[in-house]
Amino acid sequence: MTLSLDALRGGDRRTLARAITLVESTLDADRVAARALVAAAMPHAGRAMRVGISGAPGAGKSTLINALGTVIIDAGHRLAVLAVDPSSTRGGGSILGDKTRMPTLARRSEAFVRASPSGATLGGVARRTREAIVLCEAAGADVVLVETVGVGQSEIAVAGMTDLFVLLAPPGGGDDLQGIKRGVMELVDIVCVTKADGDLSAAAGRAAADHRAALGLMAARDPELAAQVCVTSAVSGDGVEGLWQAIEEAHRTLRTTGALGRRRAEQSTAWMWDEVRAGLLDRAGRVARGVVDELQRRVASGALPPSDAAEQIVNRLVGG
Ligand code: GDP
Repeated sequence: MTLSLDALRGGDRRTLARAITLVESTLDADRVAARALVAAAMPHAGRAMRVGISGAPGAGKSTLINALGTVIIDAGHRLAVLAVDPSSTRGGGSILGDKTRMPTLARRSEAFVRASPSGATLGGVARRTREAIVLCEAAGADVVLVETVGVGQSEIAVAGMTDLFVLLAPPGGGDDLQGIKRGVMELVDIVCVTKADGDLSAAAGRAAADHRAALGLMAARDPELAAQVCVTSAVSGDGVEGLWQAIEEAHRTLRTTGALGRRRAEQSTAWMWDEVRAGLLDRAGRVARGVVDELQRRVASGALPPSDAAEQIVNRLVGG
C-alpha cells in the first residue's frame, strides 16, 4: 500500500484511516512504507494538543469523550480520537469498540475516531499510536485525544506519548482512591470525576474532595503545573466545558513554562529507545533463528541461565 503525504495532508478522513492501517500493519513492505510516510509527515506534526484520557472499564470514557469532543469541535477545532486498548491482547475481544461508542462524534466531519484493533503487544500498540498521532496531526487535527483502558501499564504508556494526562474516576462507594495505582496517580495532570448527576451527585462531590486531598499529598508531575480535579456529567453536560477549559489552561501553562518542550523531548528519546529495543528484538529473532531456538531450549530446560543466553544473543547482534 502506498500513500502520498499530499493525499494525507488533504485532510480526507478515509485517507487518514488508510494511513493508520498502514502503520498498524506488521508486513515488512508496509513497515517500510509506513516509516517513510511517518518521516514525511513529521515536519507537519507536533502542533496539536495531545491529551491522554484513561479510566477503568465503565468509568465513563466513551460517553464523556463523545460530549467533550463535541465541545472541542464546537470551539472550532479539528479533532482526532485514538482509542487504544492493550487489554484486548488477553481476551481477544476489544473493550473499546468502534465508533458507535461515540455516536455524536462519529457523525461530525470535524472529528476522526479510530479504535485500535486487538491483538497487539503493549509495545506494538505504543509504536503505532505514536505514529498514528503524527499522521492525525499531519492530516490537520489540532486536538488529539488518546483514550486507553486503565489496566496499569497502559496509562503509563499513554501518558508517555501525550502532553497532558487526564484520569477519569467514577464516583464509588467511599473507596474511590482504591484501584488507582500510585505510579498512575503521579502522572496525572487532571482527575475528572465522572457521572456527577442524579443519585451519584453527592458521591461525586465526595470523590472529588478525596482526590483533591490525595493529590495535595503528592508532588506534582511538573513543578509548573499543579494537578487538579474536575467534576463532570456527560449525561447533563455539566462540567464538560469546564473540563475543556481546564485542559486548555493546563496546556497553556505547559507551553509558556517550557514544561511541554521538556515532556516532548523526553518522549522523543523514549520513542527512539523503544524503537531500538523493538528493532533489536526483531533482529534477534531473525538473524540467528537456529541459535536463538537452541538457546531458548536450553534456558527452558534449565541448562543455561537466562542472562547468559541473553548476553550471547546480544553479542551476536552487535558483535561484542
Ligand atoms: P467506558 O467503559 O469507560 O467507556 O464507560 P461508558 O462511557 O461506556 O459508560 C459506562 C456506563 O456509565 C454506561 O452505562 C453509561 O451510560 C454510564 N455513564 C457514562 N457517563 C455517565 C454520566 O455522566 N452520568 C451517568 N449517570 N451515567 C453515565
